[in-house]
Amino acid sequence: MDINYTEKVREIFSRREAPPLCCVHSYGCQQNVNDGERLTGMLCSMGCGVTDDMTCADVIILNTCAVRENAELKVYGNIGELKRLKEQKPHMVIGVCGCMAQEEKTAEKIKKSYRHVDMVFGTFATAELPRLLYEVLTERKFVADTAERENECPEGLPMVRSCSYKAGVAVMYGCNNFCSYCIVPYVKGRERSRKPENIIEEVKELVNNGCREIMLLGQNVNSYGKGLDEKINFPELLRRIDSIDGDFRIRFMSPHPKDATKELFDVMAESKKICRTIHLPLQSGSDRILREMNRQYTAEKYMDIVSYARKKMPGLSITTDIIVGFPNETYEDFTCTLDIMRAVKYDNIFSFIYSPRTGTKAAEIADMTPAEDKSRWFRELLAVQREISDEHYKRFMGRELTVLFDSVYKEEFISGKSDEFIITLVKGDPSLIGSMRKVRVTKTHNWAVEGEIIG
Ligand code: SF4
Repeated sequence: MDINYTEKVREIFSRREAPPLCCVHSYGCQQNVNDGERLTGMLCSMGCGVTDDMTCADVIILNTCAVRENAELKVYGNIGELKRLKEQKPHMVIGVCGCMAQEEKTAEKIKKSYRHVDMVFGTFATAELPRLLYEVLTERKFVADTAERENECPEGLPMVRSCSYKAGVAVMYGCNNFCSYCIVPYVKGRERSRKPENIIEEVKELVNNGCREIMLLGQNVNSYGKGLDEKINFPELLRRIDSIDGDFRIRFMSPHPKDATKELFDVMAESKKICRTIHLPLQSGSDRILREMNRQYTAEKYMDIVSYARKKMPGLSITTDIIVGFPNETYEDFTCTLDIMRAVKYDNIFSFIYSPRTGTKAAEIADMTPAEDKSRWFRELLAVQREISDEHYKRFMGRELTVLFDSVYKEEFISGKSDEFIITLVKGDPSLIGSMRKVRVTKTHNWAVEGEIIG
């Protein structure tokens, strides 16, 4: 017989004078933030209230990211800082979960060196939170669950969204690509897709509740559909979401260039709801380095994709990720990356100097490229992108953009993103946050545009 641990924990919490408060802190990508919203939802269904302030919390969950090794050090620093809080509040429950926690060595290290932590659970064990919490509350012992589970696609778990007007919707989990520098396939497992009807249901509910922007999420979002009984691919999923009634826009993150088919761009071009923007991670413009990275495309193939996309949608905004200084990269390799940047004219790049990630193939390569060279190339890359953006953002001058406002910028402005994913600043009332407005651009920078609301 299945034990209802949610009810059991709720019963324990109900005996307290006041409902306990939970604080879930998510590091890293939007998919992690989405997982964090699910963890908060589960804690609320067990009787917790929510707080952003860890000092007030009775249950703290650190939902970690393992993509960059430096980020892991920061997480360990944050875990260490919680020791003092736990001493002041011994009844507090501290959990560490997410990608970092999926690595078995993390659970061992935490159990040994961070004895104030009560539970560690990996990416496959999200749905196990009620059981783990029950075990901690009743037995006051350290619990860990880092087991990999087959075809784990959590459905029906409650969620507490952090924002009412834009929301992430996970469509698939995991990755099969094994890029040589990336730890994700090892900590998130193989690709598995949610059933389309479950995704459609979630989107409809969000839209009915007033959500204006849906971000479809997946580590490799455009390989959606593998392993499902129904034959469906990502463009077809987009078509179905696009046909849902309502005033909302659709984004998706992150597509892989090797799976960016003509059909994908055809669907985008036909749609009125899918934003005219795509994040197309290049990583390197050198075929030799792309091979070493196991990216499964060449620079020429990448440019063919960009040409087709721009032919279908001439104003398409493109952003990318670039790694500078992959092991044994030469200046000639690096200049191939600059060539593609100049040819594509990215609206924004997210770039890093390569740092080895333990557990990946690339981390085993003996790297002969001097660190000073990598730093110099990185500065050159940023300078080239600044030049491109200076020029490229001018195309927005005088144009009308549709902007969803989401924050205040320097007290004077409200800020939002346009359909093209361009940061747009307007002198306006913060009460407009959460609303979508037409803005006429009156000034351009190399990182944002300014304008005035029209209509
Ligand atoms: S596609 Fe490559 S970089 Fe992206 S998550 Fe998968 S392995 Fe990592």
